[in-house]
Amino acid sequence: MIDLVSLACDLVDVPSVSGAEAQVARFVASYLTDLGYRVELFDAAPGRPNVLATTDRPPRIVLSTHLDTVPPHTPARIEDGVLYGRGACDAKGIMAAQIAAAERLRAEGVDGIGLLFVVDEEMGSVGARAANAHSLARECRWLIDGEPTENRLATGSKGSLRLTLRTAGVPAHSAYPEHGRSAIDALLEVLGDVRRATWPTDPVFGETTVNIGVIAGGTRPNVVAADARADLQIRLVTEPSPVKALLERAVRDRARIDYLTAVPPLRLTTCGSPRFPGSRPASSGSRPISLTSPTGARRCCSAPGRFWTRTPHTSASP
Ligand SMILES: [Zn+2]
Repeated sequence: MIDLVSLACDLVDVPSVSGAEAQVARFVASYLTDLGYRVELFDAAPGRPNVLATTDRPPRIVLSTHLDTVPPHTPARIEDGVLYGRGACDAKGIMAAQIAAAERLRAEGVDGIGLLFVVDEEMGSVGARAANAHSLARECRWLIDGEPTENRLATGSKGSLRLTLRTAGVPAHSAYPEHGRSAIDALLEVLGDVRRATWPTDPVFGETTVNIGVIAGGTRPNVVAADARADLQIRLVTEPSPVKALLERAVRDRARIDYLTAVPPLRLTTCGSPRFPGSRPASSGSRPISLTSPTGARRCCSAPGRFWTRTPHTSASP
């Protein structure tokens, strides 16, 4: 019997900031091997392995979440019955719970269970893409995706648009600013207009939100900055294209826009949906409880059949 809290603490204690997931991947792989799973580590990028654990039968139902966390790493500690530490909620506690759940199902004789833990969910989702290309993805009928949703079933997930804004200036000594042009000043003006822009809203997903997560630029306090950049993540409630158009209108060619990733919002339906006759409603009691998308495999987390992958973070709950 798995000690769920102990396992969650052990997982939290292994640093796995995006880009450095190998150690926790090996830890999970070893743990699952000891439990008797067939375990495969497969690189989503050099040195960045996903973990796939299966039983003797093809994995029809796959429990999945991500290995990586945002920085910085903080180790596990328990206070007043609450587990703290980086990833305790998102998503190592979930990972431990999924392993424990799979073990309980196996003990009850349920076969065809898979566990999939991917890298890079907090960044560009290269782990999810690599998982989609895996041959066993075709065997997956239902993927149950673990993300913090306050213990509520999510009915949708906002999309995500990541981009970098870059401005260029002319360097000069700060004593003679008239000889230069500050890239930072230009960037601040652009960002001000981005922040004042009006973005789409949606009755289900709510507001489009814009986070300026990183600002960088310049070299010295006494030098007019020659370059500057800002990394933004926009949580989408519409397709990316209208938001790109609004962004470009706000920027007005004063900065270069490098789009990095774009994932549309995702509406989910429950297993009991008429679209999936024969499946049981998510609220009807025993397993499987799952959410799946009717919208096709290309962009969804759990379309029946050919693909598995992960969705962006933000979820809209009922
Ligand atoms: Zn997460």
